[in-house]
Amino acid sequence: MPTPTAPTAPASKRALIIGSGFGGLSLGIRLQSMGFTTTIVEALDGPGGRARVRKEQGYTFDMGPTVITVPHFIEELMQLEEGVHGLDEPDFPAALLEEGARVREGISGGTHTSRYCTIRPILPFYRIYFDDGSYFDYDGDPENTRRQIEAIEPGDLPGYERFHTDARAIFERGFLELGYTCFQDLGSMLKVVPDLFALDAVRNLFRFASRYFKSDKLRQVFSFETLLVGGNPLRVPAIYAMIHFVEKTWGIHYVMGGTGALVQAFVRKFEELGGTLRLSAPVAEILVHDGQGGEPSRFGRRVVRGLRLEDGEVLEADLVASNADYGTTYMKMIPARYRSWNPDLRVKNMRWSMSLLVIYFGFKDDPEQPLDLRHHNIILGPRYEELLTDIFDRKVLAEDFSQYLHVPTLTDPSMAPEGHHAAYTLIPVPHNGSGLDWAVEGPKLVEKVLTMLDEQGYIPGLRARITVKSFIDPRYFEGDLRSYLGNAFGPEPVLTQSAWFRPHNRSQDIEGLYMVGAGAQPGGGTPSVMMSAKMTARCIREDRADVVKAAESWPAEQRLACK
Ligand SMILES: Cc1cc2nc3c(=O)[nH]c(=O)nc-3n(C[C@H](O)[C@H](O)[C@H](O)COP(=O)(O)OP(=O)(O)OC[C@H]3O[C@@H](n4cnc5c(N)ncnc54)[C@H](O)[C@@H]3O)c2cc1C
Repeated sequence: MPTPTAPTAPASKRALIIGSGFGGLSLGIRLQSMGFTTTIVEALDGPGGRARVRKEQGYTFDMGPTVITVPHFIEELMQLEEGVHGLDEPDFPAALLEEGARVREGISGGTHTSRYCTIRPILPFYRIYFDDGSYFDYDGDPENTRRQIEAIEPGDLPGYERFHTDARAIFERGFLELGYTCFQDLGSMLKVVPDLFALDAVRNLFRFASRYFKSDKLRQVFSFETLLVGGNPLRVPAIYAMIHFVEKTWGIHYVMGGTGALVQAFVRKFEELGGTLRLSAPVAEILVHDGQGGEPSRFGRRVVRGLRLEDGEVLEADLVASNADYGTTYMKMIPARYRSWNPDLRVKNMRWSMSLLVIYFGFKDDPEQPLDLRHHNIILGPRYEELLTDIFDRKVLAEDFSQYLHVPTLTDPSMAPEGHHAAYTLIPVPHNGSGLDWAVEGPKLVEKVLTMLDEQGYIPGLRARITVKSFIDPRYFEGDLRSYLGNAFGPEPVLTQSAWFRPHNRSQDIEGLYMVGAGAQPGGGTPSVMMSAKMTARCIREDRADVVKAAESWPAEQRLACK
């Protein structure tokens, strides 16, 4: 039996977080500000989880999130200090809702953020290409949006006005008022159900959009965004129409140096506040006891007591939060005898988000053939509803595909060697419940996608200009990121897996155990994951008021703040 690691603070003040994704790092910063001595243990050799960085031959590729929204959430984390946890401040101060609050002199991060990284707004938010080569530049400006709708289908203009009004109502109720609600009991959920029906926010997003727009193109423009958080527009509830308004209200942003620079900023902030990040430290087991020193029984009280790493090392603490995949946390890290109910059944019956094939590639700039792309490009294939059904339900690899093409060098040339571009293109594919052999299918799909980008003129001559290329597929999500069935975004955000139905931030069966990140409430995508950290922090404050109150009363001059 390995000996426990020598404690540096009493176990009651120690906190352990499994995983250094956006959720783990955000919670780590919050716990340090609340007076805990926090260690994040990360299986991989770098931080960031899905937001890891791949560097190759002078290129920097963000491997995951690239569309940064709600920079205010980042600012909130960057202004925390030891003993100053900010959990009682309003979640959305009035100034944040003022017109123009989102862009200040071209820099959008706020004064605390700018000490750690530089965030700039991106316009348009997305260029959305349709299969016939036409496109829609979406930038949140209603006038510009109206002009483009008119060019596609003038008859849809009145529908847009109604969509705008109804999406705003959903945003105000669903995001500003209810966004931070921790649905820990059924009652809290039942209370909001009438509102959801009144807002028509329970029907699926695509059908919701179809009520306002006759044009297939516009139905796609106003429903595709949930794919960036793992939601099938044909199945996510229309409450997700709020994404449209979140983007419109606070814009879309880019962190200079890439999302990896934001991960580094979070790590720096966490360490400045005294937290410890341990890399290459995979967790094998969440340790549990019965609260009285005996072996835990299936129905008795169960209390978390620490973690056992894969190399046998034991870390003791009274508080453990898992930022790892929900399915993996419950199926692999908690032995079945310590669970009062059968999470295996739940995990197996859950709907898991789709997976992805992502191609990272660098290519030479060619002044003879300048790129006519934007920073964020959505390239829709010939089919929309049928393709989504192939990916999410039939779980087959279709002949056609849609993709999100990211070209950060159009904003930030430092991401590639001089005279070159760095890019990635992301293709939604079925998760590993499909039985597809990605060792065979992956390389074939990569060639097909790059050929398409070249031959259809998105990047003319690409195959001759390309200098580096690599890709990930569902094997990466299941293997490296330890995601159940290789899902890319956690449990699919359907109505029956949202709010109270979604895994709770405070474990329902083990005291001292919490969840944070895309697998917990409110859901996936970087803003939601940062919200999840705040919600989990609030649960922890309720449970551990002793530690938090003690930290609040520390004299200001003794606090670790920002350097
Ligand atoms: C390609 C891609 C593009 C995306 N684009 C966007 C976007 O543009 N905008 C947006 O908002 N969202 C986007 N998303 C979604 C967003 O990236 C995620 O929702 C978010 O980053 C998830 O963060 P997380 O903290 O929940 O988990 P993760 O980032 O998955 O972190 C979990 C961490 O836990 C670690 N871990 C797992 N098991 C163990 C173990 N046993 N021991 C120790 N550590 C362990 C993992 O290694 C990982 O580091 C994208 C996702 C992908 C995959």
